Amino acid sequence: MGDGAIDRIEEAQSVARKARPRPARPLISVVAPCFNEADALGPFMAAMTPVLGGADFEYELVFVDDGSTDGTRDKLEHLAAQNSHVKVVIFSRNFGKEAALTAGLDHAKGDAVVVIDTDLQDPPELIRDFVAKWREGVDVVYGKREDRATDTAAKRMTAEGFYQFFNRISAVKIPENTGDFRLMDRRVVDAIKALPERSRFMKGLFAWAGFSSAAVPYARPARAAGSTKFNLWKLWNFAIDGIVSFSTAPLRVWSYIGAVVAFFSFLYASFIIMLTVITGVDVPGYASLIVLILFFGSVQMISVGVLGEYISRLFIEVKRRPIYIVDDVIGEDAPSQ
Ligand code: UDP
Ligand code: MG
Repeated sequence: MGDGAIDRIEEAQSVARKARPRPARPLISVVAPCFNEADALGPFMAAMTPVLGGADFEYELVFVDDGSTDGTRDKLEHLAAQNSHVKVVIFSRNFGKEAALTAGLDHAKGDAVVVIDTDLQDPPELIRDFVAKWREGVDVVYGKREDRATDTAAKRMTAEGFYQFFNRISAVKIPENTGDFRLMDRRVVDAIKALPERSRFMKGLFAWAGFSSAAVPYARPARAAGSTKFNLWKLWNFAIDGIVSFSTAPLRVWSYIGAVVAFFSFLYASFIIMLTVITGVDVPGYASLIVLILFFGSVQMISVGVLGEYISRLFIEVKRRPIYIVDDVIGEDAPSQ
C-alpha cells in the first residue's frame, strides 16, 4: 500500500471523527459537588439558570452533597422540590471531592457531562462554549486557567511544581493549568465509570481516558462565597495520591539509587583498604562514621516510606470498599449505574 492510500485512510478517519453525529437536542448533565456550600448555592443557581435555560439543549443539574454540615442538604432538597431539572445525590458522610465527582458521573444521564465547582470559580458561561466545541466533534473540552491571580503565589507555585513533576514521571500527562472543570462526551464518561479503582485522582483519570480534546481559556475568579475546602495537608495528600496512582517511578528509583550508592561505596571501600594497607590502621573517623550511618539510615527509611505509600494503597484497593455511600437520591427514579 502506497503512502497515498494511507493518507486517504487517515483522512477518512479524521473526517469520520469530526462528523460523529451529536443529537439535535442533546441532554447535558451538569455535575456539581458541594461540601458546605450553603452560601454559594444561591449565586451558583442565579448564574447557572440563564446559561442553561433557553439554550438549544436539554439539561439536568446533578448536585452531590458530600456530607455537608451547614444546611447545604436542606437547600438542595428545597431546590430539587422546586426545579425538575435538579437531581441531588446525598452522601452518608464526607467522602471527598473525588468521590463526589465519581457519584455525579454515575448518576448523570446526559449525552455529555459537565463537571463544575459550586463556588463559581468555574464560570458557568463557558458551558455554552464547551457544548459548541463538543458539537463540532471534540470529545473532551476543558477550561484552561489563563489567569490565576486569585490564587495565592504559594498555591500557584506548588501547583506548577506538582504538575511538572507529575508529567515528568507519569505516562499519562495532565494539561497544565486545568482543573476538573470540563465537558466530557458520554463515551468518555463511560470509560471513566468502568475504572474499578478506589483511589480516584480524577484529573489523572480524565486524562487517562484519552479521546480528542480542546481547551477553552478563562480567567479564574475568586470564590463567590465561603472558603476553600482544601488546606495544605489535604493538598499534600492529594498530590501524593496523584503521583502514587499514576506512576511507579518512586518505587523503581530506589534500585537506581541503590546501584549508584553501591558503586561509590565500592570505590570508597577500595580507597580505605588501600590506605590501611599502605599507612596502617587508622582509628579516628568517628565523625565520618556517624554521618554515613545517619545518611544511609534516612535513605532507607525514605525508601521504606515510599513502599508504605504503595502498600497502603494496595490494601485499600484489596478491601474493595465502595467509593461512596449514598444516603438519599432526590429527583430521579432509578440511578443510571
Ligand atoms: N468539595 C467536595 N468535597 C470536599 C471538598 C470540596 O465536594 O471534601 C467541592 C466544593 O464544594 C467545591 C469543589 O469541590 O464545589 C472545589 O472545592 P474548593 O473550592 O474548596 O477548592 P479550591 O477551588 O479551593 O481548589
Ligand atoms: Mg474553589
